[in-house]
Amino acid sequence: MNSSACCTRKQKLFNVSESRETMVIVLGEQQNGKFKKATFEVVYYGKKLAEAKGTSCTALVLGEVEDPGQLGRYGADQVLVVSDPELNTLDTQQYTAVMKQIVDQHQADTVVLPHSTTGKALAGRVGIAIDGSVVTAVNALPEVNGSCTVSRPVFAGKAIATYQLNGPRKVITVTGNSIKPEEIGAPVQAEQIQADLPARKVRIKEVKRATGSTPLPEAELVVSAGRGMKGPENWGIIEELAETLGAATACSRPVSDADWRPHHEHVGQTGIAISPNLYLAAGISGAIQHLAGVNNSKVIVVINKDPEAPFFKAADYGVVGDLFEVVPRLTEALKKFKSQG
Ligand SMILES: Cc1cc2nc3c(=O)[nH]c(=O)nc-3n(C[C@H](O)[C@H](O)[C@H](O)COP(=O)(O)OP(=O)(O)OC[C@H]3O[C@@H](n4cnc5c(N)ncnc54)[C@H](O)[C@@H]3O)c2cc1C
Repeated sequence: MNSSACCTRKQKLFNVSESRETMVIVLGEQQNGKFKKATFEVVYYGKKLAEAKGTSCTALVLGEVEDPGQLGRYGADQVLVVSDPELNTLDTQQYTAVMKQIVDQHQADTVVLPHSTTGKALAGRVGIAIDGSVVTAVNALPEVNGSCTVSRPVFAGKAIATYQLNGPRKVITVTGNSIKPEEIGAPVQAEQIQADLPARKVRIKEVKRATGSTPLPEAELVVSAGRGMKGPENWGIIEELAETLGAATACSRPVSDADWRPHHEHVGQTGIAISPNLYLAAGISGAIQHLAGVNNSKVIVVINKDPEAPFFKAADYGVVGDLFEVVPRLTEALKKFKSQG
């Protein structure tokens, strides 16, 4: 990215004729014109919150997206689309400005965002713009009983904090993979609207996306490895296990610091926080900073040759053994199991 001054853009008029009471607005995050999995999760979350409040849920889609009306299936009562190509890539100032306009116009009191890079970048900005209370990384459906109570893990997942949001406006981000979205509605007719876009102050020169079958934050199965791998040349056994399982790959921080693996695979306090259904860790000690990013996994399997490795305390299943023996045998067993049916 490169900062540069931009000339003023042709102003567009916000064009929603009647003001409707839509109390929960969710952001339908997209990439390359397709919704991310996290979008279905936040729409479902937004609908459940709206139902508990006795109101409706509107999905706001920014940029050009295929079939935005499909969000109705996950509970959106209404889908609004600002299909300006300039919104295809995130500009936090533009997104914040548009979201504020929609929130004000619809007298919404709650904004729900995915706890993705986009959602994290927007939560504080939108919170300030609409004068709302912000809670990030919630991982369970809210309780609505007069006020709205949400919960999120704290202290590297060792405790759960509950927050009562008493202010008139709220911004919530929902951790990916923590809510299982259900199809509770039907597709709706998306409504094209226009909004005032402030001129971009940042010009995006190039976008390089992480490659790989499943983006790590969205992955339901993750195979991860650490310094116990001894070097990048040994990663073939991890990739083969991941491929057999249909899992994404991750790593500990020293591994990405040493350039054994790309930085987008680094999980933990200073990396990505994930909450897959399965996190399988081979040759990772389980330092607190690593656990901070993976403690929300539903099932943790640890392979380590040291029976005293701290990771075993956080594991649901543990194998004490040499990963160079255990991992290929596990892959072989999985391949056999899959070939049987
Ligand atoms: C401020 C700060 C932030 C940090 N943030 C992060 C973060 O976000 N993510 C992160 O991961 N770390 C982070 N760290 C680093 C963290 O403290 C640990 O140093 C790091 O997680 C250790 O990585 P590791 O487990 O891969 O390596 P090691 O600690 O070296 O552990 C390697 C493990 O492999 C096992 N092993 C070795 N050979 C084999 C074998 N053949 N078979 C099976 N097991 C084997 C060993 O018994 C050992 O348990 C941070 C540190 C600080 C200070």
